[in-house]
Amino acid sequence: MRLQRFLARAGVASRRGSEHLMSAGRVRVNGLVASELGTKVDVGADRVEVDGIEVVFGAPPVYIVLNKPAGYLTTMSDPAGRPCVAELVPIRRFPGLFPVGRLDKDTTGVLLFTTDGDLAQNLLHPSKHVAKTYLARVEGTPDSADLDVLRAGIELDDGPCLPARCRLVERRASGGSSLVELIIREGRKNQVKRMLAAVGHPVQRLVRTSFGGVAASDLAEGEWRELTSCELALLR
Ligand code: URA
Repeated sequence: MRLQRFLARAGVASRRGSEHLMSAGRVRVNGLVASELGTKVDVGADRVEVDGIEVVFGAPPVYIVLNKPAGYLTTMSDPAGRPCVAELVPIRRFPGLFPVGRLDKDTTGVLLFTTDGDLAQNLLHPSKHVAKTYLARVEGTPDSADLDVLRAGIELDDGPCLPARCRLVERRASGGSSLVELIIREGRKNQVKRMLAAVGHPVQRLVRTSFGGVAASDLAEGEWRELTSCELALLR
């Protein structure tokens, strides 16, 4: 089997992503760097490693939820050596684990990981409209007109957003900030921050409290666990 196909089917990355890993010299077959895109592997006989971690073909898929702390990049490695979420999940026990989508460095909360490329692709596909719930501490207090703009589908510089569900959770009598819950069904870059800034209420702190119905309120920041079968059923 071609190496990039092997990597994609083992859930390491997409076919294209696997080719990038190979070109970057991060893949070894039986200890030797395999950067040639024509490289073939004998499944079950050859030992394939990505970044020094063995890729197990045909292992049952793994599904994990992490309560992401602030200060970590959503990436499995960082050339500049900055803290990244790979340090918080068991990548040696579950090779091929990767994050489903991303959270900003300063955003905390629910971040799913899996080795199941098909499920991840489904969850992230724009047509699937998977619900993501965020709690945002914002400057000032949005009024009902602001919330209505978000509910109607606010126009951002990269196009209109789908209608969002939102509500004011807490208004601070003093201190000038408030807490807003926003449920969106897209995953555009910095989307929640841009939506709230566009109605005049920049985000000070952002927590994702649910992804497709999966929450992490039982986990301290930095902790992870495998999904229950009920949670997995919500995602499928
Ligand atoms: N929207 C944002 O602005 N940031 C995130 O991390 C997630 C959603």
